[in-house]
Amino acid sequence: ERGDVILFGAGPSAVATDVLTTAAAALLNYQQTGLGVAEHSHRSALAADIVNNMKADLADFLEIPSTYDILIMQGGGSGQFDATVYNSVLVWVENQRRKIVQANADISEEELIRQLKQKVQSDLRLDYLVTGSWSLKANQEAVRLLGPSHVNVATDSRKINDGKFGKIADESTWNLSDKPAMIYLCENETVDGVEWPKFPKSLESRASDDETLVVGDFSSTILSRRIPFDKFSVVYFGAQKNLGIPGITVVVIKKSLLATLSQAKPELARKAGLPVPPTILDYAVTAKNNSLYNTLSIFDVFVAGQVLKKLLATFPDKVRGQEAVSAKKAALLYDVLDSYPEIYKVVPDKSVRSRMNLCFRVTKGGNVDEAEKAFIKGATERGLLGLKGHRSVGGIRVSNYNVIDEAGAQKLATFLKDFATSA
Ligand code: PMP
Repeated sequence: ERGDVILFGAGPSAVATDVLTTAAAALLNYQQTGLGVAEHSHRSALAADIVNNMKADLADFLEIPSTYDILIMQGGGSGQFDATVYNSVLVWVENQRRKIVQANADISEEELIRQLKQKVQSDLRLDYLVTGSWSLKANQEAVRLLGPSHVNVATDSRKINDGKFGKIADESTWNLSDKPAMIYLCENETVDGVEWPKFPKSLESRASDDETLVVGDFSSTILSRRIPFDKFSVVYFGAQKNLGIPGITVVVIKKSLLATLSQAKPELARKAGLPVPPTILDYAVTAKNNSLYNTLSIFDVFVAGQVLKKLLATFPDKVRGQEAVSAKKAALLYDVLDSYPEIYKVVPDKSVRSRMNLCFRVTKGGNVDEAEKAFIKGATERGLLGLKGHRSVGGIRVSNYNVIDEAGAQKLATFLKDFATSA
């Protein structure tokens, strides 16, 4: 039975039962039309309503400034590893083109391309703050698309932590490029349990001139804390953790960048030897078509809309309310873990502990493998599921997403205590 288990898996997360009940009914017969929400045309007025309402509620809950647009895309966070590269390169090329043409209005296309190619060689850099497995993946994808000479790792947490993720190096040690096309960070590293405690000082106002895109991957923390949107050019997140079910990816992007992108000339980038975005990953095309360039899964948008309606009804002070609850649940669990240092060892440094993904080892009895097996077995017997750490790092991972209420976190806390104190 649904009520007998609590899912602490890293994603997909569980979805509240009342949301799923509404969604199941809508899948069969939406608003007495005799057709389900996934059967109606994505170009119908009814679909447009679902998309527009979801966007409005998202903007309301997160207090997204009106200078930002909301795009709904597909291809997941992984698709955004590519989209962020393609689109920031396009913005960069357009900015370079404007500068070259400003200096010489009568320039021939041939000469323009020659100068652009030179600029690409000397100046095109994308900076990555590598703080865990997901920012590393994004970084590797950029290298795949552009080659290593255009990609700069401004910091790599493994260098200060014995080759493992779990800390964030002091900003004074970072090696940021002067005017990179993009600076990329992952707000919450789902695999490693590392979360940025606050927005980094050295990135303040880097997004302000629209020459550098400051990009944030918020896939595993979205709707659980406030976002300083004005410091970002692009914020993106998959739906499958705090927003809904797998299938859609949301991109919040500065409108001024969309204006630049809509004037950018992909063929110019191609002639300068750079990769051009596939149409489906082009932010300007997506925006121009109100996220309906191709067939969007309106059902996934509907589910996200229901999650947002529920959040708005639960928290009068919107994301602040959820932020307080998330912090409280995380504190409860870390407190228990910290009270049994011979039994549990939290993996990341205290300064960067994630409120959403709590990663720890079970050291009870000295044999970690056996202790963790016993821990998972005991948890499963109590209906506490999805606690196995990511296959790349092992250990235990508690994903404390929004759908877990305080009573759910309390159940896990009780198990943590019981396991620690049992023979
Ligand atoms: N970024 C983060 C922080 C993630 O947690 C994940 C998936 N767990 C991804 C990106 C990749 O997302 P997707 O599986 O939707 O491609």
